[in-house]
Amino acid sequence: MGFREALFQGLAPDGGLYLPETIPYLEPDFFTSDLSYSECAVCMIHPFTKDDLSKTQLTDICESAFDYPIPIKELNDTDSVMELFHGPTLAFKDFAARFMARTMSHFIENQNQTLTILVATSGDTGSAVANGFFGVDGIRVIILYPSKRVSTIQEKQLTTLGGNITAIEIDGSFDDCQRLVKSAFQDKDLRQKLSLSSANSINIARLLPQSIYYAWAWNQSRETGPIIVSVPSGNFGNLTAGLLANRMGIPMEKIIASTNANDVFPKYLHTGNVEKRDAIATISNAMDVGIPSNLDRIQNLFHEDVNQVKIDISSWSFTDDQTKEMIRNIKMEYDYLIDPHTAVGILGLERYRRETNSKSKGVVLSTAHPGKFADVVEPIIGEKISLPNPLQMAMEKEKVSTKMSSKYSDLKEFLMIG
Ligand SMILES: *Cc1c(COP(=O)(O)O)cnc(C)c1O
Repeated sequence: MGFREALFQGLAPDGGLYLPETIPYLEPDFFTSDLSYSECAVCMIHPFTKDDLSKTQLTDICESAFDYPIPIKELNDTDSVMELFHGPTLAFKDFAARFMARTMSHFIENQNQTLTILVATSGDTGSAVANGFFGVDGIRVIILYPSKRVSTIQEKQLTTLGGNITAIEIDGSFDDCQRLVKSAFQDKDLRQKLSLSSANSINIARLLPQSIYYAWAWNQSRETGPIIVSVPSGNFGNLTAGLLANRMGIPMEKIIASTNANDVFPKYLHTGNVEKRDAIATISNAMDVGIPSNLDRIQNLFHEDVNQVKIDISSWSFTDDQTKEMIRNIKMEYDYLIDPHTAVGILGLERYRRETNSKSKGVVLSTAHPGKFADVVEPIIGEKISLPNPLQMAMEKEKVSTKMSSKYSDLKEFLMIG
């Protein structure tokens, strides 16, 4: 099984998630050297893709995918925020979506069957994937999103592109959308008819590009010792990418999984049990996930031993009230505006410091631009946020979506006809 096959299959035939057989170890010296971001990406990704992509091909892909800035905002001597939202859809999902779109498009050149990308989104994945694949020949993208559970701006970003992008509005939760995607992948009948691929964080090609910025955080921190990274987490793709980066050699004191009220993971660290739960709606809606699908991967990486997991990862859950207060505090103390997901990340780092008294450098992954969540953030700070240009343009367009129940038979019918 090579990279190319895992990229297109998404899910293994037994329903399991792909993980690299071996994770290459790069010496920390490598990560402190004077590399550009895309050079760093090529070095880290090449060991996984070398059978399918030459170094030159990979370099072209990385240079074109990661062509926007990644500023690091220092809040104080120890804490900083890495802004991962300067891509076209203003959330960190652009890193993975742009990389995937370019690799897939490279592989399907000169093939005549249309590839259908099926993706469930809690908000940001859908727009990043839609944007990454928009206008790519030979690919159509079907996005499933939970009706009324994404922000106004997110919905506009999902539903206004047109062309090879179709948005389906599901009468249900994100978990319903995710279940529908899984059902489609396990439907042999459907898969005979359609060439189907996923772009969710279940796809291993999403994880590789997301491990690069952990290396970048360490590189830019000019630290010699390990750093703390706090990751606002929902489906735990981002966090799993951090674990890969750690195994590749990025020194980490702790990786913090910061969650909203959807607290299956922190509970799992506490009790060792995974309690199935429906998603709860919160103001950090891109993290409203009941059962994180990358939990299987995390457990596998630690040989199903929760005590091993706890050595590398700490995790806490935070309420909407705490999140709002953090947005207000950061605005007042640093005159810096953050979105609700980033606020959850900062809460996690703060909590870790309180519990451990650690003074190591801490980096919070800032996953979205606050303007994407203006309907939540504006009332909290009592000010208007000026929207960056791409958001303003999406807001002015007409929404086009197909409404659908959460029954798989409805989705199947739609896909078979389309
Ligand atoms: C998707 C998303 C997350 C959660 O990332 P996972 O990889 O699913 O854990 C956090 N914040 C924002 C803004 C997102 O879009």
